[in-house]
Amino acid sequence: MPLDPIARAAITAALPPDEVVDDPVRTRAYECDGLTGYRVRPEMVLIPRDAAGVARAVAACHRNGVPFVARGAGTGLSGGALPVADGVVISVARLNRVLEVDVENRRAVVEPGVTNLEITAAVARHGLYFAPDPSSQQVCTIGGNVAENSGGAHCLKYGFTTNHVYSCEVVLPDGSLVTLGGDTGEQQGPDLRGVFLGSEGTLGITVSVTVKLLRTPETVRTLLADFPSVAAAGDVVSDIVAAGIVPAAVEMMDTLAIEAAEEAVHAGYTVGTPAALVVELDGPIEQCDSEFAQVKEICDRHGCTRLHIAGSPEERAAIWRGRKAAFAAVGRISPDYFVQDGVVPRTRLAEVLQRIAEMGEEAGLRVANVFHAGDGNLHPLVLYSAAKGETERAEHLSGRIAELCVELGGSLSGEHGIGMDKACSMPTMFGEEDLAVMQRVREAFDPTGISNPGKVLPTPRLCGERPGRYRAHPLEEAGVIERL
Ligand SMILES: Cc1cc2nc3c(=O)[nH]c(=O)nc-3n(C[C@H](O)[C@H](O)[C@H](O)COP(=O)(O)OP(=O)(O)OC[C@H]3O[C@@H](n4cnc5c(N)ncnc54)[C@H](O)[C@@H]3O)c2cc1C
Repeated sequence: MPLDPIARAAITAALPPDEVVDDPVRTRAYECDGLTGYRVRPEMVLIPRDAAGVARAVAACHRNGVPFVARGAGTGLSGGALPVADGVVISVARLNRVLEVDVENRRAVVEPGVTNLEITAAVARHGLYFAPDPSSQQVCTIGGNVAENSGGAHCLKYGFTTNHVYSCEVVLPDGSLVTLGGDTGEQQGPDLRGVFLGSEGTLGITVSVTVKLLRTPETVRTLLADFPSVAAAGDVVSDIVAAGIVPAAVEMMDTLAIEAAEEAVHAGYTVGTPAALVVELDGPIEQCDSEFAQVKEICDRHGCTRLHIAGSPEERAAIWRGRKAAFAAVGRISPDYFVQDGVVPRTRLAEVLQRIAEMGEEAGLRVANVFHAGDGNLHPLVLYSAAKGETERAEHLSGRIAELCVELGGSLSGEHGIGMDKACSMPTMFGEEDLAVMQRVREAFDPTGISNPGKVLPTPRLCGERPGRYRAHPLEEAGVIERL
């Protein structure tokens, strides 16, 4: 349905002309995020220069009942920033300044359009850095990271975005400005900052974020190890954790992912090895050296076929280049692919990989695996060719893999969010009552439902008349959690 002309005029009048884009050629650039299979061309894209402009744009949408979708860099992989047909996109790309660096208190205040890596770049000379490190960190924004509660390789030791944000200034869906959280960590009353973190643009738009900064570790040791099977590599991960070691990162890649990454960036991975692990330890030198020796011994014990230890910052960077390039590199070995994101208990890694391989074979499709092994956070990449008519089959397989993660006691998403992609799968993990509570929280922030509608929670319109039958989560069956 096209935008009502009166609403269109009111929203246009809320911002200077150069902050409103309605030329169909230019708005096409906003029609999807990283989940490129879904596309909706927005009628209007608003690109305000400051928080006051965002508030005016949102207030105009509110007065006219027009839905809006916040957008950062558009690297999201679950369709969170997918426009809604009768709404507008509000991009925070121009809110891209680091507003304040407080070295003594190890905090920085940044606008939402600042990229993840720019925060570290702005504070590195003080021996500080921002820990969450999604592989997309060169381009994704802190506003998007907050909305998705993004993770990354080093979140195993340091925690997700939520562990590194003190407070957010937010434009609520009625255009009012509030601060959630505070600059001293623990706050009185309910943790609304925590509610907002990971809410995927459904509760309002972040216009500034106060982030926590960490001191750069004294030393970092990184190794790349090859294994004869993914099961052997998985056992190494379990044994490292069982030994009481908390690595900064443990990442795993399988043959296909290695082949793609190596072809793209020539980082020194062994093409043809069934599995490779990147293990990184950081901290005080003595502790790091002693734990690193233990890690090497564990690798040897599980039949490691090649162990490469980064001997310089350049070699370490090369190892990470291979890992972080993996998603994009898969484009070299397949014309199209879906990036899945699910979690399983670490102890079930080998089992889930075996089942994924079987499901791939059954579907006649290849699946490459890259994942944050320490967290049990999988990223199966389902390879397909749209030109050969394989899209539906690939989409189905990708969805089955996400649901398999839930079946094995895990979760539908580790870090990429639910967005539009997995909204209809939510009933496989949550009961109707849980979803109703989530809806009530959403309505408390957004009673008229204009902030990123249709995302995260299943709607009858998108998912059929009724959500699927409730199935108890394995943790509930084991008596670890209960339904309220
Ligand atoms: C190659 C590649 C690698 C990736 N690796 C990782 C990884 O390791 N870990 C990980 O967690 N993710 C990863 N991602 C996914 C993605 O980069 C993250 O989800 C990121 O946080 C999205 O940021 P963005 O600025 O691109 O947000 P967008 O894609 O623009 O938006 C994402 C969601 O956030 C909302 N949003 C954006 N800005 C705001 C705002 N200011 N206020 C309120 N809501 C807002 C949008 O409405 C949408 O729902 C990867 C993506 C790619 C393409």
